Amino acid sequence: MTVPLIELNDGRTIPQLGFGVFKVDPDEAERVVSDALEVGYRHIDTAAVYGNEVGVGRAIEKSGIPREELFITTKLWNSDQGTQSAFDAIDLSLEKLGLDYVDLYLIHWPRPDLDRYVETWLAMEQIRDDGKSRSIGVSNFHRPHLERIIAESGTVPAVDQVELHPAFQQRELRAFAEPLGIRTEAWGPLGQGKYDLFSEQAVQDAADAHGVTPAQVVIRWHLQRGIIVFPKTTSRDRMATNFAVFGFELSDAELAAIDALDRGLRVGSDPDTAT
Ligand code: NAD
Repeated sequence: MTVPLIELNDGRTIPQLGFGVFKVDPDEAERVVSDALEVGYRHIDTAAVYGNEVGVGRAIEKSGIPREELFITTKLWNSDQGTQSAFDAIDLSLEKLGLDYVDLYLIHWPRPDLDRYVETWLAMEQIRDDGKSRSIGVSNFHRPHLERIIAESGTVPAVDQVELHPAFQQRELRAFAEPLGIRTEAWGPLGQGKYDLFSEQAVQDAADAHGVTPAQVVIRWHLQRGIIVFPKTTSRDRMATNFAVFGFELSDAELAAIDALDRGLRVGSDPDTAT
């Protein structure tokens, strides 16, 4: 199974399908990530605040997979925004992961109330220049936050990782970001199980037509819409299911039917007000 590579605005590439580890218990992270790597995932999305970087790192080490075949993302937590605190944060993440560099380092949330995300972005540039992260990007940034860091640094983030699923499709943000070369990553791609996405008629119909599961339909919708996606599960069977999405293709009509499920349903925090 070949996962497509998406080109980033800094010339690097990212596997379009990965594996996320939000809320994976630190004690279980090594087992979960080992399973994911065995299933075939090569792109892992973690964060300092998930508390499971040590387990992720152990799984990577034990896998014996050459480092250059992996794509590892981690994120700088809100309390580490600033200059020296960002430098310290990446060093600690690398130590926990047991890595010399990550492939992608993200500012986790803009936290406009702190007003430190521009300063933090300038530190991210230094982290990239020091070779500690190959690419740098942001998460949960809205258009004004993106505009500000680009204006004040000249560096366009490689990605913006935002809540995105069929009931919350972020069309305006994507329409702004994509022409600038900012790739969109979806968090909560399955709606975090917080609404009954899998019973939607459009999803069911496509699942029946292709003989696949509703989760596979939704992941396939993300992929065909050009979105980078990393669903999370601790079940090895579901990891395999979620990875087996390259043997079928949704038709234009099926894609449009899922597009029509957009209703502005945010299931997570609003970045403008999250504290
Ligand atoms: P998700 O949409 O991937 O949903 C996970 C839920 O879906 C779990 O409850 C899981 O049991 C269920 N699920 C997974 N596969 C399934 C299947 N095949 N059939 C039925 N149910 C299935 O939500 P998520 O974990 O929040 O998002 C994915 C990743 O995005 C995270 O693990 C994390 O890496 C990242 N994330 C980032 C942020 C951020 O602020 N940047 C926030 C949340 C998540």
